[in-house]
This record gives sequence, structure tokens and C-alpha cells, in this order.
Amino acid sequence: MLAQIHFRLRTREAVAAHLKSFSTRNSEREALIRKWFGDAGCTGANLSEQGLDRRLPPNVICVLPGETAEVIVVGAHTDKVESFGDGVVDNWTGAALLPSLVYSLSAQPRHHTLIFVGFSGEEKGLVGSRYYVDHLSNEQRAHVEGMVNFDSLGLGPTEVWASHADQVLLDALAAVAFASKMPVTTMNVDDLGTADSESFARYQIPRITLHSVTQQTWPILHSPFDKMAAIKMNDYYDSYRLIAEYLAYLDDALKAPPAVKPVP
Ligand SMILES: [Zn+2]
Repeated sequence: MLAQIHFRLRTREAVAAHLKSFSTRNSEREALIRKWFGDAGCTGANLSEQGLDRRLPPNVICVLPGETAEVIVVGAHTDKVESFGDGVVDNWTGAALLPSLVYSLSAQPRHHTLIFVGFSGEEKGLVGSRYYVDHLSNEQRAHVEGMVNFDSLGLGPTEVWASHADQVLLDALAAVAFASKMPVTTMNVDDLGTADSESFARYQIPRITLHSVTQQTWPILHSPFDKMAAIKMNDYYDSYRLIAEYLAYLDDALKAPPAVKPVP
């Protein structure tokens, strides 16, 4: 256990129940995440939707205010491809974790303001995440110290797209994985696809994407086999535990170094 880390966990049963409550309609998926954000305590001005220019469901946004204006964005896309499968892996596994992570991180005061975003239209070309980051002001973008994205968890142990991750975020992930004895390995998907984290990279915002896809399981995505039956629940729950601890760790690790005190 790393020092100064505070988080709580939902039970395996609760996490599994959220995953199994998926809809195959993108508008219903967004609405479910919004409802669960509310259940996790995100209410009033801290819970909002961001309509897109195109005929897609909105982004859904939950803000957990911190002690400073510094921000960590935590994202996962809510939509599935229109054609095949139930879209459970890609990306209900990621979206359904967002409200559980709100629960996990909300028990203690935070240094950073955590902004959880369920992005719409990822499968249409990162539409929701691009819209989100494009519509931040320059000042707002400057306050985002990191963007942590999850896409397609639960096919196996946690993987990280290391070649498209910021080194500080990567080192922090390795530290948490080592301390908690939970596995993380590198699986780069440069030649296979993209993810909402890349919308943030366009603005030089440090970003990282966690997933679970390997060369063997890649064909499940966007296929009729993207169903509950593809999920390894133990691995999925481990990914949730790892990510909850990772976010708690980042909240501490990404603090600006204390100002040098003047010598009296
Ligand atoms: Zn995806």
C-alpha cells in the first residue's frame, strides 16, 4: 500500500451488476451513466450534459470538486459501434466504471478536481472527446494535468497503450501496480485503432489509455462476439481496483512541488 492514498471500493457484485445492465442503444447508454453518476452523488451543477453539434447523444460530465483548480480528466466512451455485437467490451466496460470510480474517489477530500466524462461518438471518429477538449478555454486546458482513459477492459488483465502515454502517468501506473501486486503489461495498439485520449494529446495534455486487448482478443471488438460472454469478471474487477487506486495515487503524485519557503 502506498502512503497517503484514500479510496473505497464497490463490491464485485455491484460492479458486475452495472456491467450486466448494458443497453445496446447509445442514447440509453448515456442516460444510464448519467443516472448512475447521480446515484454516486454527482448532482446539481456538478452533473451536466454537453450537447454535440451532430446528431449524437451528449457527452455526460460529473465533476468532483477538489481543493485546487488543477484537474484530472477521467474518460471512457459510452457509445458502441452500430453494426455488431452488444458493445459490452467496447466500451461498456469503461463507461460503466465511471460512476463506480466517482464513488471510489468521493469519500475523501481531493487536491485535484476530478472531471469524469462519458464521451459520445468515439466510434464515429472521437467526436465527443474532440468536442469536449476543443470547447475548453485555453486556461481550462492549461489546468488539466492528466487525462486517464479506459477503453475495452475485461478481456484479460489490464494493458496499457504505453507508446501513446505520458511518461509521468506511465511511471505512476507502474508504481501502483507494483505496490498493489496487480498486473499491468504494455500492449500498444498504434496499428490497430485509436482512443479518446488522442483528442487530448492534440493539445499536449498528458494522457494514458488503459485497456485489456491483446493480439489474440482484438478480433472480438466490433464483432458479434463483443458480448457479456467475452468478459473475464475477475480481470475486470482487478482493473477497477487498480484504476481506483491509480486515480487516488495520481491525485497525490501530480501535486505541484511545494513552493520554496523563504529562509527567515
Ligand atoms: Zn472503444
